[in-house]
Amino acid sequence: MDLNDTPEQAGFRDQVRSWLKEHKGQAPPSTGDSGDSAYIDSRRAWQRQLAEAGLAGLTWPKEFGGQGKGPIEQVIVNQEIAASGVPGILDVIGIGMLGPCLIAHGTEDQQSRYLGSMLHGDEVWCQLFSEPAAGSDLAAVQTRAKRGDDGSWSLTGQKVWTTNAQFAAYGLLLARTDADVPKHKGMTMFIVPMDGEGVTIRGLRQITGEAEFNEVFFDDLNVAADAVVGGVGNGWGTALTVLMYERLTIGLGSEGFGYRSDRFAKALSTDKAACADPEVRQRLGDLSTDLLAVRFTGYRTLTALSKGQIPGPESGLAKVTTVNAAVAAGELLADVIGPDALSEDSEWFHMISFLPGLKSAGGTEAILRNTIGERVLGLPPEPRLDKGIPFSELRAKEKEAVG
Ligand SMILES: Cc1cc2nc3c(=O)[nH]c(=O)nc-3n(C[C@H](O)[C@H](O)[C@H](O)COP(=O)(O)OP(=O)(O)OC[C@H]3O[C@@H](n4cnc5c(N)ncnc54)[C@H](O)[C@@H]3O)c2cc1C
Repeated sequence: MDLNDTPEQAGFRDQVRSWLKEHKGQAPPSTGDSGDSAYIDSRRAWQRQLAEAGLAGLTWPKEFGGQGKGPIEQVIVNQEIAASGVPGILDVIGIGMLGPCLIAHGTEDQQSRYLGSMLHGDEVWCQLFSEPAAGSDLAAVQTRAKRGDDGSWSLTGQKVWTTNAQFAAYGLLLARTDADVPKHKGMTMFIVPMDGEGVTIRGLRQITGEAEFNEVFFDDLNVAADAVVGGVGNGWGTALTVLMYERLTIGLGSEGFGYRSDRFAKALSTDKAACADPEVRQRLGDLSTDLLAVRFTGYRTLTALSKGQIPGPESGLAKVTTVNAAVAAGELLADVIGPDALSEDSEWFHMISFLPGLKSAGGTEAILRNTIGERVLGLPPEPRLDKGIPFSELRAKEKEAVG
């Protein structure tokens, strides 16, 4: 692939750059307290400006308010936003993952009701998939949805790690609708109102000091029959669409993480003794090589995308390698700078304290490596005790297996 912009891409980049230059003064700070409604409102307003300028929903089809452009244009926008130092859209989960799922599986009514307000930041969305006993093994969800005589559904259960639930208007929720079939078959996806009766949202404070994600409890939340997305019993397929877009969103956005070896080298270079220390140089060299490899693997992903292909599970390795290199950088910086690297006003505080979370988000290293082993390298699959067994009988089978 030719990594230089084509004349059209260069023209688009110029357009994006000059819009950002002109409007930079109106942008809110890139970071702020997600519990502060004034800050969140300022981010919503900024998302609206980006959407109106055609800089949000780049890859959404035009009929849904998007720009109908390709992933390369999305990368150009991400790069220019990162370079200009302004925040991007607030609702990355909605626009990057849940909106595309509604575009793929939603009804016309759902698309016309929800997509426009999502794009403009008027209604933020959250992803209600993970549960205390269903993270890596997502198909183990226990939140139950029961259908009433009038066709409406009653939802009861608990979700966890729900990013943005504290200010989201809606969530896309994966629930079990049939426990008498094998676990991947008995699930259904629902649109749920986050201010509905029976919904309780509790913030979870992280070591960064922020509370970006939440526990969400559902106690007999009633939703109408038309809240189902993708058909009853098809929840797993619908969830896989979201997870595919999650991989893509993380892949396309990874340049924006800011884990760059030139930044690490600059911070270390102020310490003359560290510069001369062969061990420090070796550690910086190792992690820089990994980050460079990730960048080139990313170009491979872009090449696939520019040819209209969907990147395979191997792109998960980029997340694992980036996070591991950033962890190594954090340890190196802490060793050289000392405890100040971890003080709240340090440039590195957020990166170092956020990394343990990033190790889990978007799939843990063990899970991503398993997937690559099975689906890319063709290694034998993990032993599966749950194959073909109704979900309702799994507990007993698991107990039997462990004796
Ligand atoms: C910052 C952040 C934001 C998130 N946002 C959301 C969100 O908005 N919505 C949402 O639904 N979820 C969200 N999550 C949850 C995320 O998807 C889960 O953390 C992830 O799927 C891992 O699940 P778990 O935390 O339950 O860990 P577990 O699945 O309990 O895993 C615990 C440990 O066991 C290991 N393990 C598990 N199974 C295997 C296996 N088969 N082989 C080998 N090792 C294994 C794992 O690698 C891990 O080390 C978020 C998480 C984070 C950290």
